[in-house]
Amino acid sequence: MNKFNVLIIEDEKNICNFISKTLSSQGYRVSCASTGNEALSLATSLCPDILLLDLGLPDMDGMEVIHRFRTWSNRPIIVVSARTLEIDKVRALDAGADDYLTKPFGISELMARIRTSLRHSNPAANNGDTPPHLYHAKGLEINFFKRTITIDRNPIHLTPIEYKIVAFLAQNSGKVMTYSAVMNSVWGPYAESDNKILRVNMANIRRKLEKNPAEPIYIFTEVGVGYRMADDEEPL
Ligand code: CA
Repeated sequence: MNKFNVLIIEDEKNICNFISKTLSSQGYRVSCASTGNEALSLATSLCPDILLLDLGLPDMDGMEVIHRFRTWSNRPIIVVSARTLEIDKVRALDAGADDYLTKPFGISELMARIRTSLRHSNPAANNGDTPPHLYHAKGLEINFFKRTITIDRNPIHLTPIEYKIVAFLAQNSGKVMTYSAVMNSVWGPYAESDNKILRVNMANIRRKLEKNPAEPIYIFTEVGVGYRMADDEEPL
């Protein structure tokens, strides 16, 4: 099996060692950078499959690393940061980070997010090399070709807008999508900046999909940031 290359960008030695040991024990190849400049030069020479990025770096802000890295690579970036403000998460995600984990984090959560990001960036690594046209999770099935949604085989009727929202989240399942990312994908670049219309649609979607809309099992809210759809169950 071809090992995935992970680049950890973190100036705290013990955090770096901890993540690096866990990843190595699970068969990943790991490199570490403790500054933004070192990270960017390693990223060009090693072509890592995924970046784990701390935002508080000694020589530059991690946001700068995201901006620069995104000018030439679309490999996934998971931010692992002590910054817990919603606005920091939104900025990082909108700048092109794929996911965001706040410190302190659970190592199994981090491993799960890494697997999700890698699966999304390497669809061919799953089964065959055609893009997936089905989404499955907990009895919910979406067929992106037929544009149909069923739960336990019962059809669910969504409006075209509601379908677009759900399909976009499902195609990015397991990852948090910011409100503005969803708005842009559904209403285009001229979407209103106010996300009220999105919240109204989401309330209707949840009434149709969730048994208990207050405790959703399909689409989760990341308060102040966006939505995350339950991860696609592994293809058989
Ligand atoms: Ca730091």
